[in-house]
Amino acid sequence: MVPVGWSGSALQRRTKDLKFQQCFCVVDSSLRILWIGGDWDDFARRNGGQAVLANDVLSTRLTDHITDIATADTVDQMVTAVIRTKGVLRMDYRCDGPHELRRFRLTIKPMKNDRVIMVHELRDALQLDPPMRAWSFDPAARTLKCSVCGHVHQPGQDWSDVAVPGGRHPELVSYTVCPDCLARINAAVSNISEGADAVEVGELKLKTGFNDGA
Ligand SMILES: [Zn+2]
Repeated sequence: MVPVGWSGSALQRRTKDLKFQQCFCVVDSSLRILWIGGDWDDFARRNGGQAVLANDVLSTRLTDHITDIATADTVDQMVTAVIRTKGVLRMDYRCDGPHELRRFRLTIKPMKNDRVIMVHELRDALQLDPPMRAWSFDPAARTLKCSVCGHVHQPGQDWSDVAVPGGRHPELVSYTVCPDCLARINAAVSNISEGADAVEVGELKLKTGFNDGA
């Protein structure tokens, strides 16, 4: 990983000690978790998932650990499409913290006996200094955050990326999948259903111009 300077600003820099992270889980057609591996626990802790450590999630349903119906339905739809078509789906998603923007890649591949393996890889991280205001999940919050691209939607405003150094991220958010991401995922599922072997839902940028040198 080559550190890349953020032109014109010393406030942001690529995380230099980025540890390669990869974790896997195998699920069946009912989304029951059959096996997990890789840096799962480290991955869960970094993403605030104290309650979803490896030993606790085996044989539970993946969607039991997803807080909103839109995201759970989307995961279900992608897994079902991979099982049905034996194709491969790849999708970037953002999972930021107040101190760090993080870009992950999810690859869903078919296995025997109507199972799939879901591979999550940390592709890139960008430190925010100063950090953004921390936020927390509230199922009743009117401000929505997309669980794929990380953009937020406040009542009466457009979806936008609020992740900037020192940014005032809305304090309480509930999760969903934004219309853009939903459209990209639906298109990818249609493609794979029409016979494509491997479909890319789409690449997300951490910040414009930051993909180069990743
Ligand atoms: Zn989105």
